[in-house]
Amino acid sequence: METLIPVINRLQEVFLTVGADSIQLPQIVVVGSQSSGKSSVLESLVGRDFLPRGSGIVTRRPLVLQLVHVPPLEERRKHDNGNESKRNSQNSYPGIKAEEWGTFLHCKNQIFTDFTEIRKEIQEETDRGSGDNKGIGNEPIYLKIFSPNVLSLTLVDLPGITKVPVGDQPEDIEIQVQEMILSFISNPNSIILSVSPATSDLATSDALKLAREVDPDGRRTLLVVTKLDLMDAGTDALEVLLGRVIPVRLGIIGVVNRSQHDLNTRKSVPDAAKDEQAFLQRHYPSLASRCGSRYLARTLSRLLMHHIRDCLPELKTRVTVLTAQYQARLNSYGQPVEDPSAMLLQIVTKFASDYCNTIEGTARHIQTSELCGGARICYIFHETFGRTLQSIDPLGGLTELDVLTAIRNATGPRPALFVPEVSFELLVKKQIKRLEEPSMRCVELVHEELQRIIQHCSSYSTQELLRFPKLHDSIVEVVTSLLRKRLPITNEMVHYLVAIELAYINTKHPDFTDAAQVSASVNSQQTDTLDGGKQCKSEKEEKVSLHQPVSAFSSPSKAVNLLDTAVPISRRLSAREQRDCEVIQRLIKCYFLIVRKSIQDSVPKTVMHFLVNYVKEHLQSELVGQLYKQPLLQELLIESQETAQQRNEVAQMLEALQKANNIISEIRETHLW
Ligand code: GDP
Ligand code: MG
Repeated sequence: METLIPVINRLQEVFLTVGADSIQLPQIVVVGSQSSGKSSVLESLVGRDFLPRGSGIVTRRPLVLQLVHVPPLEERRKHDNGNESKRNSQNSYPGIKAEEWGTFLHCKNQIFTDFTEIRKEIQEETDRGSGDNKGIGNEPIYLKIFSPNVLSLTLVDLPGITKVPVGDQPEDIEIQVQEMILSFISNPNSIILSVSPATSDLATSDALKLAREVDPDGRRTLLVVTKLDLMDAGTDALEVLLGRVIPVRLGIIGVVNRSQHDLNTRKSVPDAAKDEQAFLQRHYPSLASRCGSRYLARTLSRLLMHHIRDCLPELKTRVTVLTAQYQARLNSYGQPVEDPSAMLLQIVTKFASDYCNTIEGTARHIQTSELCGGARICYIFHETFGRTLQSIDPLGGLTELDVLTAIRNATGPRPALFVPEVSFELLVKKQIKRLEEPSMRCVELVHEELQRIIQHCSSYSTQELLRFPKLHDSIVEVVTSLLRKRLPITNEMVHYLVAIELAYINTKHPDFTDAAQVSASVNSQQTDTLDGGKQCKSEKEEKVSLHQPVSAFSSPSKAVNLLDTAVPISRRLSAREQRDCEVIQRLIKCYFLIVRKSIQDSVPKTVMHFLVNYVKEHLQSELVGQLYKQPLLQELLIESQETAQQRNEVAQMLEALQKANNIISEIRETHLW
């Protein structure tokens, strides 16, 4: 069975690679009547002397013998000295200086290197568990044998089937033993070695009967005929071995184990094997090649190999799936940098276009959870900024008293005939100034959004950027500073927009009703005469009047209403004062609306031109200009430790998977003989 060791060892590699549990090889259970040679058969399979054997009932408790393949001592020593990866440490067994050794579950910490001692311990433990007077115990003894020369396999030696209670055995000993045997052989992952001596009639073999019960199709039952050497002179087992007496699907194998005499004279296992072959050649020449302990071992190997092959397809699928997963991961890490300048250009270009696309709204990673990029800028212009402007009361912060005071101050000592223009200009400028703050705020908001897009792009767009943390930081820095550089000029221009409005109050503005007309209009309220000239439009109707200029004051009642609200409660104004005040207020309102409309229109345009579009247009060249410098290139393209390490690990895993795949194919094609 040693031929399987390399196969299993190689498969072990595959299991470690794919993180699967090792194949559970079937356990081999020997069944047979007392003294049929079960323990002897097991021993010849293992190739070591350590099981108690003999006449009468010797095996009185199940012995679960777990063989564990370990690397040779030499290799383990090397392993302990070097610090290899942890995952192999289970094969290391530090501190054990023997090539082969055994341990018992009932005395875990004791290491047996002398196999005679092991046999002694089995005997003593048997007595402890089931008395020393032929009693039988259910409780198995667990023995582990570690050796470089064994296949990792579990063998179970069972007490023989008995009929008549002897010694301390209970009346129902037959049933008890049968149940114990059945509990082991009913496990579908077990191979039943049904042991029958050639000296008794096979047709009455209880071992075969029990095996049939749990394995009616005979898929996992092998018949071993022992004691060929003890047959009466003139008889042989040829008919039995040829399967003519009872056919056994997996085969009937005749063996010659060591006799009691051989045991007494300490015949070695190899010598016994030699003598067995000689015996078979002499007595069963035609069958010699299909009999004997060695053939039995090979047959078992073949059965185990079938089992292993049955497990391969699933293993192969697993390897394939993992390979695909790891390949995808490897791809996501990108290729190692071969041409730094090309790489840098590619990344920078990609970032720049992602940035612009986000502004344009053509980016691939469109967010759905919140507005971003261009959409948000649009929102800032029309919702945030537009609404703020709309909410500014044209006359906010101006009391009638303020207006009156301004009028008086403007006229000096003379009582004025007409509403003085100076006071209007003074007051309207004060109102226009109020547009500056929200305009500046608009620039600020757009600037913030442009800054946010950097984060958005660097986290969504390129895996590549995550690979190169330095480049990432540098790109962010360049764009940030480009934005910062554009901020003063944009601010200045927006400031100018308001300043320009303040620089000249254009009372000849086509939409503006001049003072005389407003005075006339106010005066004519009582007489219902309407001025046909240009009228100042009320804020409410402004939108409609864009297309169909209708005078707000064509309806006198509306004007009166406006007047009513304007009268301060604190002090009654004279009629003249009231009229003047109203005239000024109307003019201010009218003019303010004109300016507000213009600011609302020009601030976004200015921000677009001086900030957004400028950055869009110059981003790529700025990035290239700042970053595409020879000595800098290498440094920027240093991969993050993490990425480099992950790529290495994944590449190694892929290699291991490839190897695993090869091993599987190899094993599929392996013919043991
Ligand atoms: P178990 O009770 O079934 O485990 O049988 P053992 O393996 O303990 O063997 C019982 C006795 O039969 C021992 O003395 C063995 O030496 C002997 N024996 C087993 N197989 C053979 C065999 O093929 N030929 C001879 N001559 N003796 C055997
Ligand atoms: Mg036995």
